[in-house]
Amino acid sequence: MTKDLKGFRNTVSVEDIPEDGLHLIFEDIPGLLSETEECRIQDTAKGEIFLHRVDGDVHLNGKVAALLVLKCDRCLEEYNQEIDISFFYILVPGQSVEGKKEIALGKNDMEVSLYDGAEIRIGEIFREQILLQIPMRHICREDCKGICPGCGADLNREECRCRTETLNNPFSVLKKRLPT
Ligand SMILES: [Zn+2]
Ligand SMILES: [Zn+2]
Repeated sequence: MTKDLKGFRNTVSVEDIPEDGLHLIFEDIPGLLSETEECRIQDTAKGEIFLHRVDGDVHLNGKVAALLVLKCDRCLEEYNQEIDISFFYILVPGQSVEGKKEIALGKNDMEVSLYDGAEIRIGEIFREQILLQIPMRHICREDCKGICPGCGADLNREECRCRTETLNNPFSVLKKRLPT
């Protein structure tokens, strides 16, 4: 059963998953990353999810695609990173974290996650998957030269001026810091 939804919803009730599964396609998943996040999503994220009940568990196959906007740690310019990933979860009803660990050990080739037995929080799952794709280091390209700490030149585009400025006028660096 396929449902094309115009609006995104954060949760799906397990009761709403038919015997042969539920396929949801989202053209626009809003609010996956909050304002405080270190990066943002350009335009909107698209996603797809297939939910299938297996015994008491729910198997979830999903995909999410988005264009991230990150800020380079070296040159401070914004750059894009494309994300297009598939993921698979087994959602197990229950509360205990210990139980979750044991199950995860037994099935370590996939994500095992708990749900409350009634609702699948698909918004959180999409969000989790996107956060996993954000690298620790944000570098616009491997050979980004960054910004000179001395003269502030963007070394990708211009030459460092430290040496010439110092040669021309030994006080130029000092002068820049003082109000004129
Ligand atoms: Zn850079
Ligand atoms: Zn410099």
